Amino acid sequence: MSETQEKIFERDDKNYLPVFKRYKIVLERGEGPYVYDIDGKKYVDFLAGIAVNVLGHNYAPLVEAITNQAKKLIHVSNLYYTEPQANAAAKLVELSGLDRAFFANSGAEANEGAIKIARKFAKKISEDKTQIITAWDSFHGRTLATLTATGQPKYHKGFEPLPAAFDYVKYNDIADLESKISDKTCAVMLETIQGEGGVYTPTENYFKKVRELCDKHGALLILDEIQCGMGRTGKFFAYENYGIKPDIVTLAKGLAGGVPIGAFVVTEKVAQAFHAGDHGTTFGGNPLACAAANVVLDTIPNEKFLSHVVEVGKYFKEKLFDLQKKYSEQISEVRGEGLILGLQLSNPKISGVEIVNECMKRGAIINCTVGTVLRFVPPLIITTAQVDEVVKILDEVFGN
Ligand SMILES: *Cc1c(COP(=O)(O)O)cnc(C)c1O
Repeated sequence: MSETQEKIFERDDKNYLPVFKRYKIVLERGEGPYVYDIDGKKYVDFLAGIAVNVLGHNYAPLVEAITNQAKKLIHVSNLYYTEPQANAAAKLVELSGLDRAFFANSGAEANEGAIKIARKFAKKISEDKTQIITAWDSFHGRTLATLTATGQPKYHKGFEPLPAAFDYVKYNDIADLESKISDKTCAVMLETIQGEGGVYTPTENYFKKVRELCDKHGALLILDEIQCGMGRTGKFFAYENYGIKPDIVTLAKGLAGGVPIGAFVVTEKVAQAFHAGDHGTTFGGNPLACAAANVVLDTIPNEKFLSHVVEVGKYFKEKLFDLQKKYSEQISEVRGEGLILGLQLSNPKISGVEIVNECMKRGAIINCTVGTVLRFVPPLIITTAQVDEVVKILDEVFGN
């Protein structure tokens, strides 16, 4: 580690709010699925800014679109029309099969808007139709409403009083949902695939039954695809894998390939709940962010791109199953779909965080969530050769 890195750690540790436990590297630049620290050390990046850099780093068409847009307009008020925003909204509407899109700056903000519009919609039906049901082990963001929606008590602690009328059910447990949903339910909000909670995928018919229960009780179905959307499962929206459509879908992370953005997309019926002045944003959907989103929206939803995700994902998952066979006393399960994959650790020789650290020393950036799940959300452009690089490193770390 260079003296410069040490100086940066020191300055940052002294001045930045210490809410992240940081790994001791200073990243400087990237190229495709690789990032480099300021000493020039190369890492294959299978975290991708937590499912953000879907097209990899320094992707030329994205850099060019951002550069060209910055020379024209970075920002104007949402009181005016811009072409990048009109285009991005039209693309999201077409891809989702829903009717209207709104742009925010982050995932939490997208979910916050989704919760607001759901509440407003349900109020028109009945004053007490306010309950919002989410899942245990979910993750929906860090604002007060979205951290309340997040079904993990550790995120709630110390922030009470929390917004009212949130209830939790077991993800992928239709009986639990059936016992809690009623005509007072405003919305059911779920990640189509749980990311932060440990990479949990639904069983085949779960979402069909969730959809039926929502329809029966006039509750809106909000799907949070902030992590699992944008082509990560091999479909642009993960819900396309399950033969259903939500009333509201939220996106963020990879939507603009690394430029901050969030979005929620709704049916016309839901859209009618909002009138001028009911919601807004200064930055959300500005021309710079939307120019970036348009590159992602022109690149990912095509057959060749998505079948690449499916193929590499399948290859990667097989390699993870091989690791599980080889280290069965340390790895109890392989989960996930496409390029959102997880390895469940059971009594590993070293902790999940230490495994991440050991991988980093050997030149691979991976992630550990909930302490015991290694999570892989690489750029969608990775090749099987890059999968091999990471698997070789994991093999060394588990075998040590
Ligand atoms: C990351 C994430 C969020 C929050 O997004 P931010 O941009 O960090 O606010 C919400 N939901 C899911 C499923 C996420 O993965």
